[in-house]
Amino acid sequence: KRRMLLWDALQISRYIEDQLRKLKEVKFIETAGSIRRRKATVGDIDILAVADEKDALKIMEHFASLPEVKEVLVKGAKKTSVIFKTEKQETQVDLRIFRENEIGAALQYFTGSKQHNVHLREIAKENKLKINEYGVYKVDTGEKIAGETEESVYKAVGMDWIPPEMREDRGEIELALEHKLPKLVELKDIKGDMHVHSTWTDGLFSIKEIADFILKNYKYEYIVMTDHSKSQRVAHGLDEEKLLQEIEEIKQINKMLGLNFIKKGTEVDILLDGSLDLSDEVLAKLDWVVASIHSHFSRDNTDRILKAMENPYVNAIGHLTGRLIGIREGYPVDIDAVIKKAKETGTALEINAQPLRMDIDDIWIRKCVEEGVKLVISTDAHNLGNFAYMELGVGLARRGWATKKDIINTRKWEDVQKFVNEKRKKMGGVLVGD
Ligand SMILES: [Zn+2]
Ligand SMILES: [Zn+2]
Repeated sequence: KRRMLLWDALQISRYIEDQLRKLKEVKFIETAGSIRRRKATVGDIDILAVADEKDALKIMEHFASLPEVKEVLVKGAKKTSVIFKTEKQETQVDLRIFRENEIGAALQYFTGSKQHNVHLREIAKENKLKINEYGVYKVDTGEKIAGETEESVYKAVGMDWIPPEMREDRGEIELALEHKLPKLVELKDIKGDMHVHSTWTDGLFSIKEIADFILKNYKYEYIVMTDHSKSQRVAHGLDEEKLLQEIEEIKQINKMLGLNFIKKGTEVDILLDGSLDLSDEVLAKLDWVVASIHSHFSRDNTDRILKAMENPYVNAIGHLTGRLIGIREGYPVDIDAVIKKAKETGTALEINAQPLRMDIDDIWIRKCVEEGVKLVISTDAHNLGNFAYMELGVGLARRGWATKKDIINTRKWEDVQKFVNEKRKKMGGVLVGD
């Protein structure tokens, strides 16, 4: 069975949560499983609710009669399973109802991952405890000692609460036992989006429309326009002259806004030989340069990327592997070598938050964090709705254990500029503002 994209699964689970919240009998509702862990793809959807026993069947009835429910697989007061149908796909959704003193244990149990829970139960066993979806119990007396909150479940076995995105049994249990879990980056830490397309190339909205929308709906301090370069003919990529015209428009709009809100950037193509699609002279005038590969997807592209990172004006590599989930595998690339070069040159790697990309993957984010290589979380927005993908990127960053300091776009703009100038200085470029 094909897995769903996280974004699509989130829309379904949030819709169902909203529908069920309308019932006053539903005291609490939350989605567990891989959605809660923010995995890039999702199998089934697991939703947990709290209600009194006497109200459970009424809630299940309401759930099973949602118009999108195509088939009811199981209907009971504890668990009801349905096939939920949208325009794009069909998926199984399970709703389980618990009591208030069980929901923490239930959330912990149904959030997984399986490996995380197996390891957790081993530790419980060593402490003569038993954990299931209803609570934590002493093995000898059967006494229940936790279950109302997830915190209480972890605390019962001597651990700090572990963020769901970390629950993959990749060392988080050991850190939780030592009370040394990192403080992960959060959506509210993000100060701007640094990979955005407008009608200058293949975006659907003008720079002014984008600026108005972001100023109205987001608490960002900046956005960086990164339209395509000339090799991207289908996307109407810009040559040097056109890019200079776009820069002029950005200046005018900032003036109109009375705010230096829109930053000048590009998503410049990395050509086959690793050179860039725009001249250094023009790149030097920009605030932020994303360099990406959009061609020759079957060859090993490590050489092109390493060479592009040598350029003093390249600040981030966009969607590093080029994968499109369920459509196209990423091209071969030696990510260890890329991370090493990123560290040497002071180049950031992008966490591209497009639902189909979610590129780079969590294990590589973790490696960047360990190596001190900076990351930038970007939506690669082509329309206004795409800006909401930022939460997917933040979820992915958290799966890679990234903290606020690892992410460039949690910085205020003058500190982003410092990052840019450090590289320009190191690699022999002209400094910003020179
Ligand atoms: Zn791109
Ligand atoms: Zn792009």
